[in-house]
Amino acid sequence: MDNGGTLHLNGLFPNELGDWLEEQGQARYRGQQIFQWIHRHTTQDFSEMTNLPIALQNKLQEEFKAPLPLSLVTARVSKDGTEKYLFVLEDGATIETVLIPEAHRQTLCVSSQVGCAMNCSFCATGKSGYVRNLSAGEIVAQVLWVEHRLREEGLTLSNVVYMGMGEPLANYEAVVRSIRLLNDAQGLNLGARRITISTCGLVPQIRSLAKERIQVGLAISLHAVTDQSRSEVMPVNKRYPIAELLAAADDYAADTGRRVSFEYALIAGFNDDLHTAVKLKELLKNRLCHVNLIPINPVGTEQRPPEERIRDFARVLEDSGIQVSIRKERGTDIEAACGQLRQSMLEE
Ligand code: SF4
Repeated sequence: MDNGGTLHLNGLFPNELGDWLEEQGQARYRGQQIFQWIHRHTTQDFSEMTNLPIALQNKLQEEFKAPLPLSLVTARVSKDGTEKYLFVLEDGATIETVLIPEAHRQTLCVSSQVGCAMNCSFCATGKSGYVRNLSAGEIVAQVLWVEHRLREEGLTLSNVVYMGMGEPLANYEAVVRSIRLLNDAQGLNLGARRITISTCGLVPQIRSLAKERIQVGLAISLHAVTDQSRSEVMPVNKRYPIAELLAAADDYAADTGRRVSFEYALIAGFNDDLHTAVKLKELLKNRLCHVNLIPINPVGTEQRPPEERIRDFARVLEDSGIQVSIRKERGTDIEAACGQLRQSMLEE
């Protein structure tokens, strides 16, 4: 029922919970109640599900141990307010989740895999290799855990981005299921427009996602303007070169009516010169898109370009009418770059 054959209670929809309850000789409608406790009320303890009979609370406790299949190992808070959580899953694997608080919104960056097989050269997760896919329940649990914590402060999550560890579209079924769970009107009811999936560029899955009719935002990591240089930092480009990727992005925008965002990590001396900015402008002009420039959090030998260079690069794109934003540096003091905290804990 859930990804990888693992049944996680919070990865099931009300009707599936109803099926399981019926098998246990329980009333089917309790499935809806359990779903609402977990997803709408973010309850983390079966004993708080007060409209369930005590016997059923005990049964759930016996079978599943907890409503969410993860627990916190450590949390770090940056000077700028960014919070990074390291969670341990039931099999002992660890994942990272990052909360980015701003004045009027709370954005959560979730992981979709333990590790990642895509091997992008600038990424700490890529360097540590692939372990396994997360189940839909494990993805949603990150959101529910943080939402529960925020509510204690009178806040609520406004956006969820699939930009943490892993390539979301390489774990397609669980990711789509997790989005539908977050969307569910009986649960968190988080609008698909508040959800963004970030991909390194898996073309067939981008095309499938467009057909799901769930209208999530799509962010594509581009990072280079020629196939040769992109393949150097992102091996996925050898399978799906830039022209194919841009064609899939165009179709996604046409099918969903949503502007695609291109992520461009600025790496000093690699892709930050103005000649490259002009090439990027030529690649993207006349496309329904937005460019997000991300001055890189240093990992290994790659360095962040100076501020002036970042501004000049942005100006080349803006002058030709392309919408550009420059991502603010967040959480560098707490190893907020994807995979860094997990890596340093593994080393410890
Ligand atoms: S950047 Fe994303 S796709 Fe690339 S290795 Fe890191 S987690 Fe995987």
